[in-house]
Amino acid sequence: MLKLYYTGAWQITKHALIFVIFIKRNDETMAKKQFKAESKRLLELMIGSIYTHKEIFLRELISNASDALDKLYFKTLTDHDTDIKKDDFRIFISLDKEKRLLTIDDNGIGMTKDELENNLGVIARSGSLNFVQENEKAEDIDIIGRFGVGFYSAFMVSDNVTVISKGYGSDEAYKWESSGVSGYDINPCEKEKAGTVVTLKIKENDDENNYDDFLDQYRIKSIVKKYSDYIRYPIKMDTERSELKEGAGVDGKDPEYETVIEEETLNSMVPIWRKSKSEVTDEELNAFYKDKFFDYDDPLKAVYSKTEGSATYSALLYIPSKAPYNYYSKDFEKGLQLYSSGVLIMDKCPDLLPDHFSFVKGLVDSEDLSINISREMLQQDNQLKLIAKSISKKIKSELEKTLKDDRENYEKFFEAFGLQLKFGIYNGFGMNKDELQDLIMFTSSNENKPVTLKEYATRMKEEQKFIYYATGESAVRIERLPQTELVRDKGFEILYLTEDVDEFAVQMIHEYDGKEFKSVSAGDLDLNDAEEKEGFKKQADENKDLLTVMKEALDGKVSDVRLSSRLKTHPVCLSSRGQISLEMEKVLNKMPVDQKIKAERVLEINAGHPIFWKLQDLQANDKDKLKVYADILYTQALLIEGMPIDDPVAFSNAVCGLMV
Ligand code: ADP
Repeated sequence: MLKLYYTGAWQITKHALIFVIFIKRNDETMAKKQFKAESKRLLELMIGSIYTHKEIFLRELISNASDALDKLYFKTLTDHDTDIKKDDFRIFISLDKEKRLLTIDDNGIGMTKDELENNLGVIARSGSLNFVQENEKAEDIDIIGRFGVGFYSAFMVSDNVTVISKGYGSDEAYKWESSGVSGYDINPCEKEKAGTVVTLKIKENDDENNYDDFLDQYRIKSIVKKYSDYIRYPIKMDTERSELKEGAGVDGKDPEYETVIEEETLNSMVPIWRKSKSEVTDEELNAFYKDKFFDYDDPLKAVYSKTEGSATYSALLYIPSKAPYNYYSKDFEKGLQLYSSGVLIMDKCPDLLPDHFSFVKGLVDSEDLSINISREMLQQDNQLKLIAKSISKKIKSELEKTLKDDRENYEKFFEAFGLQLKFGIYNGFGMNKDELQDLIMFTSSNENKPVTLKEYATRMKEEQKFIYYATGESAVRIERLPQTELVRDKGFEILYLTEDVDEFAVQMIHEYDGKEFKSVSAGDLDLNDAEEKEGFKKQADENKDLLTVMKEALDGKVSDVRLSSRLKTHPVCLSSRGQISLEMEKVLNKMPVDQKIKAERVLEINAGHPIFWKLQDLQANDKDKLKVYADILYTQALLIEGMPIDDPVAFSNAVCGLMV
């Protein structure tokens, strides 16, 4: 045929060329588009899903429709489009048993061709591919709840999905169609008004699933009631019922029935947080949380609060049971949903939560805020500030209540979010310490579980002057620290500070219940009586020269070498002077700062240990060797602390030198 173009008359060639171009173009539009790899995998998983609650596909599609209505509503606020009335907003479900079709129709914002392509051809949620790969063989995993990849859940119950959509403000409508992993088509079509119609061809029943359920009006009604009752737009459906025919059944005639079709609104539209507490079950609260805030676990706690007074609002607050994967990163965005009289005005309002409670999810609905308030104005809004203050108080009191009445759950909470509370104490330069100090916990030498400062304070011994703490990588390592010996011997409890932020937070609190915090590695522990002190002083004077030689040998490494009043069985340890402790030095130097920070180190020697007698002997007979010993002991003290040593090779050689 090609030959013809070259040999035939120009006219023929021209027509043929146009024909070829036409075919080619049509070919391009007709060719199936492929899902992006990540989406494809997810889709495959969805199609083969043995997920037991397949019915949630309806919740997901309704939720998308409701979002689309919200978006259109926002748009009309700024566009002042008088054609669109909020009262007309609705979601319509229809069922066709014979053709096995279920349709969800909304008059929301709709999608343009590009949006159809981008929104339904790609699943952009980061991390979903990894998750899918890791869990490919897992059964019954809640990928839907986990990633909110709602739309694809339609493929759990249907073989073919079509989406007809017209974007608001656009003249063209498009039809997106897919039968699964093989790809999708997008073609122009007709649709009068903006909005989206999603049609599912429901699968045939199989051994395990009765898909007919999703074509049954009673079943659909109950699914909507169960998962989508709170949706603020009417979800309507034409429902059939049998009614006694007028006049039938009288005069001894047989009763006759007729089928009446009536449009019914399936949801109550009362937002869950506006219902009275007694009307809402825990299960509903949890389901709402998982749906709205994309968690796959139940929350640890749901708080239902209605407040009147200087700030009038209802709030539904949740404490998640686990920290989101990005919680301690800068990608995490805090905030609560903000509603004004039931209308969403902001999806994540950061001003409602202080940073230290940023883990809280939920929403606030207040009549005191204007729907048209801009983001900038919100920040200035006094009403919002009052609400935020009241919410913060509420969260605190709920946490305190949990700590008091439900210790086990509080410990779980603290494991997930305790770090944030400690950061909160440190970050505000102690500004929030009164608010937070009774909520934090540390493990301690008394029990192998977290204790609060209050618990510590109430069991302090009468003669105890300080709240003692020790720092280290783990409780096990701290327990072995020589510095804890004497404090422990006196029977004083020691708090174990194992997180980087701990000591900084404790320093911000400074004192609790009138008692100052003291590190077991601090210069003076003040644990000895007058007689003991006198004894130490005398001993130090007697060994002055020895200590001076050692100090000189360690010049630049330590600021002092002294006899220890805290060691009992161990030969040496390091302590520090001044504001910066050894642990703080470690933490600060992990950060990208130009200048290295150094704690003022003091090498302490146990005068009751045999090594000390050896040092005395060297002082008298071999000063050079004493210097080597000083260095080895210092390096050992560094190792005990878990601090880096300057020259491991030199240390090793020095030890070998003594061994041979
Ligand atoms: P999610 O809703 O969590 O973003 P989905 O996979 O359910 O994820 O939907 C993907 C996107 O497709 C939505 O974010 C939205 O932009 C668009 N979308 C889905 N359904 C509709 C609809 N009925 N009307 C308008 N846009 C929709």
